[in-house]
Amino acid sequence: MAQMKPMPTTGAGPLADSFGRRISYLRLSVTDRCDFRCRYCMSERMQFLPKREILTLEELAALADAFIARGIRRIRLTGGEPLVRRGIEDLVRTIGRRIGDGLDELTITTNGSQLRRQAGALADAGVRRINVSLDSLDPERFGFITRGGDLPVVLDGIAAAREAGIAVKINMVALKDLNEAEIVPMLRWCAAEGHDLTLIETMPLGEIEDDRTDRYLPLDGVRRDLEQQFTLSPLNYRTGGPARYFLVEELDARLGLITPLTNNFCDGCNRVRVTATGQIYMCLGHEDRLDLRRALREGAPGEIDALLDRAMRMKPERHAFRIDAPGAAPAVSRHMSVTGG
Ligand code: SAM
Ligand code: SF4
Repeated sequence: MAQMKPMPTTGAGPLADSFGRRISYLRLSVTDRCDFRCRYCMSERMQFLPKREILTLEELAALADAFIARGIRRIRLTGGEPLVRRGIEDLVRTIGRRIGDGLDELTITTNGSQLRRQAGALADAGVRRINVSLDSLDPERFGFITRGGDLPVVLDGIAAAREAGIAVKINMVALKDLNEAEIVPMLRWCAAEGHDLTLIETMPLGEIEDDRTDRYLPLDGVRRDLEQQFTLSPLNYRTGGPARYFLVEELDARLGLITPLTNNFCDGCNRVRVTATGQIYMCLGHEDRLDLRRALREGAPGEIDALLDRAMRMKPERHAFRIDAPGAAPAVSRHMSVTGG
């Protein structure tokens, strides 16, 4: 992977927004493409972007450096499916060299389909933790939800990650009448395999064929149900993301809940997102964005820093998701696969 000319820094300080929140976490989307079409995430006939609009690997690495220079300490690569991007291992290696040199941690969120092939390269680059999305342990249901995903391939990918010494957290989107009955079996499976489990409420992002309100499962109710069977003790453990963690005493397992809808978590927000086209979004739940790609490709020295300062002034206090109005338009028109989960 060729390197871009280093961008001149302006000596600007660490990023903090106008509500005094220090921004230290970047979610960087490396592609909008994916080999799955999960029902809650994408439309079946998703139109992907032309290649010229997507940042090159060199541009992605240069942006990562620019963010690290402004005090970003943790980067999560996401997508679309990050591991289907050609050359991803080079990017991971390049950014991985900054671990211990400004960066505390490089992680990745993946659907696991390419993990058997990529786990070794991720571990060699310094990736110690990954999130793998897994909404069902039933092959047929998994294929239905992901529209074509192959469960044994994903499970084998997860095993490869563990063999490479990478800790795995399973992300499961809780879907009413679809995988609801699998929450307890998934929790038991994760406990037996030594994976943390995080449950996620489905968020109203982008038009899909289904009505999300049909599948929306509030996690406060799931928590109450789990508490009929298990003792959930709140933990102080945090991974930099929005999940609140509990110890499931009977299984000695850690369970995270991401509850954008039933329990707003914006007070502690420490992150921004950059799409594969170089648009910085200050909040998953708002349309405001700034174009870092233009600044990267045509901008004057210092323009990226100036945009990051502007982004901090624009970052809203909280998201504005609602899912309780049946048939309502999504809060934002772009899909999760565009902004990066
Ligand atoms: N393809 C990778 C994966 O599936 O892990 C990374 C990108 S995906 C957009 C990141 C996470 O967002 C996944 O855990 C996925 O389940 C979640 N996700 C996608 N659409 C969502 C939605 N509308 N509401 C809640 N979570 C969503
Ligand atoms: Fe692809 Fe991940 Fe979206 Fe599923 S959730 S369609 S795997 S980007």
